[in-house]
Amino acid sequence: MNNSKNLFPHNHFVNSELRQKLINQRPLLIWLSGLSGSGKSTIANVLEKKLYENGFLSYLLDGDNIRVGLNNDLGFSDEDRKENIRRIAEVSKLMIDAGVIVITAFISPFEEERDFAKKLVKKENYFLVHVDCSIEKCEERDVKGLYKKVRKGEIKNFTGIDSPYEEPKNPSLKINTENETVDESVEKIFSVILEKIKV
Ligand code: ADP
Repeated sequence: MNNSKNLFPHNHFVNSELRQKLINQRPLLIWLSGLSGSGKSTIANVLEKKLYENGFLSYLLDGDNIRVGLNNDLGFSDEDRKENIRRIAEVSKLMIDAGVIVITAFISPFEEERDFAKKLVKKENYFLVHVDCSIEKCEERDVKGLYKKVRKGEIKNFTGIDSPYEEPKNPSLKINTENETVDESVEKIFSVILEKIKV
C-alpha cells in the first residue's frame, strides 16, 4: 500500500477542459457488460470504427490488451478479478482525464465492481451498456470454445454457469444481441452517446 499522506497531487496547467477543447470532444467511459459470447468485443470493435469515422478519438480496453500486459500477473480468483477491474477502472479514469472516449469490454458480472468504476470516473462520465443475450444463445455461439470446456469440467467459476451474472439494475442502455443485428445495436449506442461526446 502506498503512503498517500505524503503524496501531493499537482494542479497542472493543461487540464481536462483544455484537452477537450484541443481535441474537440467530451470524454466518456462506455462500459460494456454481458456474458461471454454476448457480443461485447464485436460491438466494441464496430462502435470504435464508427467513432473513428465520425472524427472521435477512442480507445478500446479489452481482455486481450489488458490481461496480456498491465494485468498479466492476475488470475481468476475473486481477489484477482477484483484487482483486474480496479486497474481497468483506474486506467479508464486517466484516459477520461486525457479526453479520450474509452470503451471497455469485460464480462464484469458484479454490480459492486461496475459501481466502483462509475464512482471512480464520476457518473456523468460513465455509460453502462448491458449487452444482453441468453446463456443458451451464448453457449450455442461458443466463439472461443469456452462453454465446451466448462461442460467438460475443464474451467470452473464460469460466469452464467457456476458463477453468477448480476444483471445491471440501472443500465444507461440495454441492447439485445439475439434480436438485433450488430449494426442495429451499434447505431442505438451511437445515437445516444453522440449528444454526450459532442462539444
Ligand atoms: P464477447 O466479447 O461478449 O465474449 P464476442 O463479441 O467475442 O462476445 O462474440 C459474439 C459472437 O456473436 C460473435 O461471433 C458475433 O459475430 C456473434 N453475433 C451474432 N449476432 C450478434 C449481435 N447482434 N451482436 C454482437 N455479436 C453478434
